[in-house]
Amino acid sequence: MTTTASRPAETLVRTPKVAARDVPPDAFIDPETGGPSSVARTLALPEGVQPYTYRWHVIIAIALIHLAAIPAFFPQFFSWTGVALIPIGVYFFGCLGINLCYHRLLTHRGFVVPKWIEHGFAMLALCNLQGTPASWVAAHRRHHQHADHEPDPHSPLVHFLWGHILWLFVSNPHVDTKEGIEKYCVDLMRDPVYKSMENNRAWLLLYPLSALIIMAAGFGLGYWMTGTTAGAWQLSLSWLFWGVLLRTVVVWHITWSVNSITHMFGYRNYETGEDSRNNWLVALLSGGEGWHNNHHADQRSAAHGHKWWEIDPTYLTILFLRKTGIARDLVQPRSWGQRKV
Ligand SMILES: [Zn+2]
Ligand SMILES: [Zn+2]
Repeated sequence: MTTTASRPAETLVRTPKVAARDVPPDAFIDPETGGPSSVARTLALPEGVQPYTYRWHVIIAIALIHLAAIPAFFPQFFSWTGVALIPIGVYFFGCLGINLCYHRLLTHRGFVVPKWIEHGFAMLALCNLQGTPASWVAAHRRHHQHADHEPDPHSPLVHFLWGHILWLFVSNPHVDTKEGIEKYCVDLMRDPVYKSMENNRAWLLLYPLSALIIMAAGFGLGYWMTGTTAGAWQLSLSWLFWGVLLRTVVVWHITWSVNSITHMFGYRNYETGEDSRNNWLVALLSGGEGWHNNHHADQRSAAHGHKWWEIDPTYLTILFLRKTGIARDLVQPRSWGQRKV
């Protein structure tokens, strides 16, 4: 393990914005060492991506949900219970669905849970409209394989907005085609549940279904609190705007921040050959995913916080699952000594 802090960006030779394949291998020279620096400072679009092959269904869905969330800020739809649904929803759907299941369990196999529980967590993840398990895992595995180098599907070294959101808007045959997914997700494709999601889109119904359940709960509580149908509808709609639509937007931007911000801003515990960073703000918002340099240094580890103060709520949840006998074979950071617990 090394604990070298990353070198300031200005010590690295800036290179013109050209595809990595067009640049001779000695073009990236670190003046401090005279050797090659870890990454180019700017990248072209990932190889295989055609700039004008838009994924309109993704662009329209993302635009519509952002617009549909705006009424959350209208006074008639405000409620404190609605506001509370943001952190609750970020934990329930984002932390348990995306971090714990899609990322640490399905992508990196950092621990093991019974299949039916794994599928249950995947259902929570699907309620974030971030795609199927296999499509998410394919993009993320390719990211790790080529992080901050040209084939990386979402390096912010192309530019910040590319890494944050724009990479979703254009087709990348390496991760969003059947062939790409089969290449990166041989393990997931053996599971009939995940395989079926690649062939039909019934999983999309989970999102409106979750919205209906949340609205029904809001309606019930609203009626109990006010005794009127008008009060019931007010809380029901408040929970729709806050607990479903705005929460979806918030979880999206948190997930996207891990791709963009934590490859640009923060400190490094490890020299990893790319630009990953530990960013406390993203870590705080995302439930531990912001300790991204640690994660790149030790990808299989279920724990992303490696120092005692790098708080990692997702790992605390996995520890809780282990305590209750649900999770086992947790992969720990190499630096902690014992690899599996
Ligand atoms: Zn990364
Ligand atoms: Zn990862």
